[in-house]
Amino acid sequence: MLGRSVPQSKSWRAAWLLPIAAAPIRGGWVTTGGGRVIAVGTAGEPRPRETTEIDLGDVAILPGLVNAHTHLELSYLRGTIPPQPSFVPWVRQVIAAQRARTDPAAPAILAAMRTAIGDARRSGTAALGDISNTLVSIEALAGSPMRAVIFHELLGFRPDDARGLVAAAVDAEPRPDGARVQISLAAHAPYSVAPALFEAIRDAMRNRPELPISVHLAESPDEVEFLRDGTGAWRRLLDDVGAWNPEWRAPGVSPVAYLASLGFLDRRTLVVHGVQATRADLLELARIGATVVACPRSNVYTGVGRPPVEAFYASGVRVALGTDSLASAPDLNLFAELAALHQVAPSVPAARLLESATRHGAEALGLGDELGSIGPGRAADLLAVRIPPGTVDVEEYLVSGVEPEDVSWVHESIQR
Ligand SMILES: [Zn+2]
Repeated sequence: MLGRSVPQSKSWRAAWLLPIAAAPIRGGWVTTGGGRVIAVGTAGEPRPRETTEIDLGDVAILPGLVNAHTHLELSYLRGTIPPQPSFVPWVRQVIAAQRARTDPAAPAILAAMRTAIGDARRSGTAALGDISNTLVSIEALAGSPMRAVIFHELLGFRPDDARGLVAAAVDAEPRPDGARVQISLAAHAPYSVAPALFEAIRDAMRNRPELPISVHLAESPDEVEFLRDGTGAWRRLLDDVGAWNPEWRAPGVSPVAYLASLGFLDRRTLVVHGVQATRADLLELARIGATVVACPRSNVYTGVGRPPVEAFYASGVRVALGTDSLASAPDLNLFAELAALHQVAPSVPAARLLESATRHGAEALGLGDELGSIGPGRAADLLAVRIPPGTVDVEEYLVSGVEPEDVSWVHESIQR
């Protein structure tokens, strides 16, 4: 590789380069061309020949971030749903807002979604895991530089024909052009999805083994109570919205144990939230090879509590990071979410938190060969984050809160 002639390539030097798969390199450089990374090196190593050298100065180059859980279609609710002391009152407000919505593709909804995608991009996000009931985000994402897996989310606590419901949903999915946006399936949560529907979703995904699957799991204490005893705020909500199924029996186990018993969890499952997961649950998820997606700011906003992030990492489970939607987070800035994660789990090394926001998110979305780390052949979706001159602990700096104005994309950078 070194010494090879690479016309039209650029070699970017930075105060720090974070390959993620290896330790940060002070004064490191990365050569890109044709949208790909060609080579990576330390300060003293020679660049490829015939490359244009650009010194970006006091910046850290790192891979674009991966937001593994959001709901772009709820972006129009930004600032309208107040924080709640417990989860079900928050859910009731979102349900009311959705019922008041006459057209899921109304101009204001599409505009809010496009703004959200632009804001996410400007704050350094390369890829999104987007939960969608209406699929209106497909077009907006396909017209953006963002990569995405759109999880077509299904609900039904008493479906007459679970398999028919899944088949109709899959038939209704448009086929986006190109590989930047892919469509998969998600089950909403154990209190809104009947066992037969979980099984039907799982069966439908057997034909698409390369794609991840998502589910909200172990989010609120109400969910734990409902699955243990069949009682509480969730039971009352299901009654109130006419969705209660008198045939359903509480399994009497934890949310994780319940979905494991249904065979819903495997290596490609994104378990979103996990706030109520016990140590035994987390060890089981680690054994299965699933990914926990932490959304710490949303968890506080919706009143479900602080996620046990230190226990996540101690268990060995793969941890990814998500902002959740603008109905429960102030913005889609994943650097701000990373700072919240760091605050919740100060004992977890910054390097591991950064890995969650990059490599582990990319792997969870099935994009690990393209994104999440800097190495030859991978996509050159790289960030240049402005850092103070003389920064020594660059990882600690990056998990302590980065503002969008300090973030730029390397391929758009000009020499400073
Ligand atoms: Zn969510």
